[in-house]
Amino acid sequence: MKKISRRTFVHNFGIGVGATTVMASLPSFMSLPDNNRAMHDGKKLNIALCGLGRYAGYLAEGLQVSKYCRLAGIVTGTPSKAVEWGKKYNIPDKNKYNYHNFDAIIHNKDIDLVYVVLPNGMHKEYVIRAAKAGKHVIVEKPMAITASDCQEMIDACEKAAVQLAIGYRLHYEPYNLEMKRLGQEKVFGQVRLIETSLGYNTGDTIDWHQKKALSGGGPLVNLGIYCIQASRYILGEEPISVTAQFGPVTNKIKYAEVEESITWQMNFPSGAVSNSASTNNCGVDRLFASADDGFFELSPAISYGPFKGRTSKGELNFPEINQQQTQLDEISKVLLANKKLPSHITGEEGIKDVRIIEAIYEAAETGKKVSLI
Ligand code: NAD
Repeated sequence: MKKISRRTFVHNFGIGVGATTVMASLPSFMSLPDNNRAMHDGKKLNIALCGLGRYAGYLAEGLQVSKYCRLAGIVTGTPSKAVEWGKKYNIPDKNKYNYHNFDAIIHNKDIDLVYVVLPNGMHKEYVIRAAKAGKHVIVEKPMAITASDCQEMIDACEKAAVQLAIGYRLHYEPYNLEMKRLGQEKVFGQVRLIETSLGYNTGDTIDWHQKKALSGGGPLVNLGIYCIQASRYILGEEPISVTAQFGPVTNKIKYAEVEESITWQMNFPSGAVSNSASTNNCGVDRLFASADDGFFELSPAISYGPFKGRTSKGELNFPEINQQQTQLDEISKVLLANKKLPSHITGEEGIKDVRIIEAIYEAAETGKKVSLI
């Protein structure tokens, strides 16, 4: 059977979906009247990207079309990338840093926020260094590789009086916001069962994702976190216990330190149950919720879109958005207005997911149900 890469998987799922034109109810921030947007006085938040890998490329493109922020600086350990990105995005040398001189960013008034897009095991160090330099921080998911690291990051940001956000792009994505609304407003009654899975076949390629010290774990940490998030925001509840099972290892060299695939179940206070899988040996990207009076689902649900969704009453149609631009603009608007970031994207949210990940690993390792209360 032909193996499906992450890129072809996302592309193939996109084919046939087409541009959506019919707009269902939009999330509140997207339906702001124009005069509300016009209140922006023109100042943009100046963002430095820390780590210039694959996802930083998506963020840089989002920043090119952002209204409320711009790509003002970079942090990289690769001199050739500093030159290349400097030219491509018009970044002056004074706003370029490497991992050694990064702390000097404290003196740079042209940078307001550092966006940490490094391997997961490096998030803590760079968030804390950015906070000590007096910069707001966005850090990619997962927030860190342990809950105690997350707590240190929260404490460092509080101490430095800077704000900390997690790069949860789906918190601004219309299809996912609709899943949250349908679940939390009980539009189809009480949700009883959620099935959500995310997987990509990553072939034989080995990189930092398979080194536990840098990744914190396998597909659960990198992909499954979205399934945990979706179950939590559909129900508006926190899981009370988890059970979990590691899948078989088909590539013993690649998966010597982290799992190749994992399935897990979460129990919620309302009695709802979620069943999820995350894997690096096949492609899957879906979310399904069954409630007393109907169902709602997305597939693709979590990747970069375009998404496709329906409920037991019919198709869902929302505009396709630039997820990175929307997330960056919405966070920037809050920071430019000197307001507090909403709790659903702060460190307090990030640490909840990492605690659940720790419990899922414990459950898979021990074969026992692990309580979260
Ligand atoms: P990547 O491997 O493409 O990039 C990592 C960057 O870190 C590279 O520029 C690399 O040079 C640099 N780096 C510095 N020290 C390193 C070291 N010791 N080992 C390896 N790389 C090192 O990874 P990525 O896919 O861009 O992921 C970066 C972060 O972004 C991760 O936390 C990941 O979970 C997150 N991410 C988020 C999304 C999303 O949709 N929100 C998507 C992909 C990745």
